[in-house]
Amino acid sequence: MELTHLTIPQWQKYDGLLHGFMGRRGGQSVGCYAGLNVSYRVGDDFKTVSQNVCDMKAAIGIHDGKIVTMQQVHGDNILEITDRKMKEAGEADGMVTAENGIYLGVLTADCVPLLFIAPKQRLAAAVHAGWRGTLAGIATKTVEFFQTRYGVEAADLEVALGPSIGVCCYEVNDDVATPLMKKWGALTTPSIAMKDGKPHVNLSRLNRDILRDAGVPGTQLFQIGPCTKCAAEDFYSYRREAGETGRQIGVVGWLPS
Ligand SMILES: [Zn+2]
Repeated sequence: MELTHLTIPQWQKYDGLLHGFMGRRGGQSVGCYAGLNVSYRVGDDFKTVSQNVCDMKAAIGIHDGKIVTMQQVHGDNILEITDRKMKEAGEADGMVTAENGIYLGVLTADCVPLLFIAPKQRLAAAVHAGWRGTLAGIATKTVEFFQTRYGVEAADLEVALGPSIGVCCYEVNDDVATPLMKKWGALTTPSIAMKDGKPHVNLSRLNRDILRDAGVPGTQLFQIGPCTKCAAEDFYSYRREAGETGRQIGVVGWLPS
């Protein structure tokens, strides 16, 4: 079966850029992980996950080199990755690299995966933003990391926001909506709506607006993919499966020149 592999059409022009948001379609995992689960941390069979990772890498075009993932903890820690042999970066929710031949992976099942590139400088970042990371401002912190570490301005960044839970399905309580509204103010107006008396959050839209507010031009922000909870055939959803499910991956990196 063909794998679900979403790419940004506007990024096809960049030579040496490998990227994509994978779905669950076509993998070897079974049961509640059925499909292309690429997380070793959710209780799935190790060998099967390993096979899925191989298939996923081939689909993205990574024939040589490793994908680095992190132990995501819904925080705002960002790590710089410099070691091509590294597979696991430790506790963080964002990784940035200036090294070509390093591929960064972010695992999700409803949270927003963000892939950053600075095409002129051939830099990349992969970021995990659930509501906690969004509240902590991890998207803005990544923009600042590019500025302080590499001298790259927000105007030179492009960001892809992958499949995540949509406003259709992301009903929350006030303990989530209120702190988000306090922190982000008017930026939340288009992304938090009341439906049947309960707040619903559009996390992807909120992160997009936060990035635009941080100086990334709107024409360099790309949202792709459906609501993960609605698209059961194509994507894992933590909320739909009540916690027991696999993870899909978003990957970005530059081939060695
Ligand atoms: Zn939905």
